[in-house]
Parts: sequence; C-alpha cells; structure tokens
Amino acid sequence: MPAYRLKQAMRSYYQELVDDWADITTWSEKLRADCANSAWSPLTVKTVLQTQDPPSVKFAFQTADGLTIETVVMRHADGRNTVCVSSQVGCAMGCAFCATGTMGIKRNLTAEEIVDQVVQAARWLKIQKMSIKSQVYQVAGQRPEGHDGPDRPEGRITNIVFMGMGEPFNNPDEVFESIRILTSPDMFGLGARHISISTCGIVTGIQRLAEEAPQVNLAISLHAPTQEMRQQIMPVAKAYPLDRLMRAVRKYLELTHRKVMFEYVLLEGVNDSQDDAEDLADLFNEYRHLAHVNLINYHQTGVFKPTSEANAKKFQNVLRRRGISVTRRISFGEEIRAACGQLATRETE
Ligand code: SAH
Ligand code: SF4
Repeated sequence: MPAYRLKQAMRSYYQELVDDWADITTWSEKLRADCANSAWSPLTVKTVLQTQDPPSVKFAFQTADGLTIETVVMRHADGRNTVCVSSQVGCAMGCAFCATGTMGIKRNLTAEEIVDQVVQAARWLKIQKMSIKSQVYQVAGQRPEGHDGPDRPEGRITNIVFMGMGEPFNNPDEVFESIRILTSPDMFGLGARHISISTCGIVTGIQRLAEEAPQVNLAISLHAPTQEMRQQIMPVAKAYPLDRLMRAVRKYLELTHRKVMFEYVLLEGVNDSQDDAEDLADLFNEYRHLAHVNLINYHQTGVFKPTSEANAKKFQNVLRRRGISVTRRISFGEEIRAACGQLATRETE
C-alpha cells in the first residue's frame, strides 16, 4: 500500500478512535474488506467495571496469547481523565505490600499493547460521550446545536500514568517506544508533560528518562526513609540501595530541573511514625523545592494495616513543618480492586 494509506489508518486508530477496519472512511470498501481478518487492536476487552464516587473505570484486557492485564481510568472532577496503564503482565519486584508483586512476572508488554490500553480507554470515553448525546437527542427529538461529528473535548484522555501492573523500567525499550507513539503528533499526540512514569527505583531507567524523555514526569515509589526499612518491604533496595537511588534522583534533578514525586504508602507500625517523617524530610535536604511527597493510603492486600487518619495527618504535618510539599492521594476504584497496588489477575484461562 502507498504510505498515505498507513497515515489514514493511523489517523482512524489514534485520533478518530474507530474500532474496526470497516470504519476507516478514507479507505475504499475493497481495502477495508482485505484487512477484515486482521486484528484491529492487539488487546480485546474482557470486562469493564465502573464506580461512581469518585468515578473510575477498570478494564480487563486479554492479550493475543491469552493473558489478562488491567487498566484504570480516573475521572477527576475538574474534567481531567487519567488513564493508568500496565507495562508488564505481573511484576518481578515482589514489594511486600503490592498485589501485583504476588503474581510474579509473566512477560513484558509490547509498546503496541501499552498504547492500545490508552487508545481503547479513549475510545470508551468517546462512546460514553456519544451515548449521552444520543439520550439528549431522543429527549429533545432533534439533534442538539453544535453536537454533531466526533466530540472529543469532554471525553478525552488528558493524562497517562505508568502506575498499573508492572515495573516500567524493567521493560524500558517498549515503554520508551510507547511514549514516542503516545506523544507523536501523527499518532496519539499527547504532550509529554501529561505523562508520568512511576518506578520502584531502577536507577538505569531514571538515567535513561532524563536523557530520552526529560519532559515526562518521574515518580519514585519510595515507601521508606532508610535503607534498612526499605529493603525489608522492597527487595529492589538490595540491588539499588537508597543512597544510590537518591544520587540518581539528584542527577536527574540537575539535568532536568523537573519536580520529582515521591510516593509513600503509610503502613501502620512499619513506616508511619513521626520519626520516620523526620527521616524522610532529611532525604530531601538540599533540593526540597524539587521534591513532592504523595502519601498513599494502603489498600488492603492482606499483609499490613493502613495507618489511622489521625496518624496520617501527623505524618503530613511533620513534612509540612520541614518545608516539603506534600499531598494525600485520593483513592479511586477501591471497591472494584482498581486502586494502587490492587491490580492482579487470577490464573489466566
Ligand atoms: N512498579 C511501579 C509502578 C506501579 S505504581 C512502582 O512500583 O512504582 C503503583 C503505586 O502503588 C506504587 O507507588 C506502589 O508502590 C503503590 N502500591 C503498591 N501496593 C499498594 C497498596 N497495597 N496500597 C497502596 N499503594 C500501593
Ligand atoms: Fe512491582 Fe510496583 Fe508492585 Fe513493587 S509496587 S511489586 S515494583 S508493581
């Protein structure tokens, strides 16, 4: 096929978000029919679960080789829609508090499989918007003013976070390729500043991010302020000790001048004392203006207990007093097991 045919197909897939070859209106009937037996998307939707308050959607997708992965969309009150994508089937890192960690690793996802999670989530949001439109249409008995044609503004994906299943920097080639596709104006075309990668602390990936995609946001799953405590709950700390990790972060800050987010899940009696908060503040001393701490509620996976609300506030206050910018993360989708650390699929059929 001539190159412009590929461009037309890419436009239909990434931007018009159509769900089949048959809907590429710029192609002849014959061309569409010729492709009818090839897969349009690398992933197939298995189930879609929704919550209302706060609104979130969890997709279970099946890969061509029969594995299941999960993707979550968080619909924020300010109109942003954040899609949380998986980068691997399972995860090899074995963090003690994380359900994905208990699955072990099945395989890396390809760049196409990572991107398709975003495209399918965007397609779903677009269909939601259209179904609302068609209800309005039925009630009013006429097509509402200015409401024809594909209508992306309200139902579009505004942010992408690599915070689903898997450790993105254990699959760096496919993850960086997916970022290239997601940010390319000819393809999905989202600004790199709207994309965030979360890592448990793979130093080589942090270095590569600074060089290859400095506009993409970096989040570090820190979860402990000392090496001793960290290696008890995160085995990765043995391979990449805390001092080496913090040196890599410092280097990243010097190169990019971007703020780094540190995620910290509060586990009762493990890492949630006020002394722990002081130790945490000590880690950021000379570049505290570029560090942001995000305190996460522990979502039950059976091993630990979540910190009480009163304790979480005390922890937050210590950090504030030390001049560190700190927020508490709102939990999305806990009741459909879509919250941080809850994504895990049972044995695949
Ligand atoms: N593997 C990457 C990406 C996953 S992001 C990473 O670990 O950073 C998912 C976030 O949720 C991480 O910060 C992870 O540490 C955190 N998390 C894992 N289990 C959790 C749980 N049970 N409750 C709350 N947060 C959890
Ligand atoms: Fe893997 Fe991240 Fe879960 Fe740790 S927290 S097991 S790195 S997905």
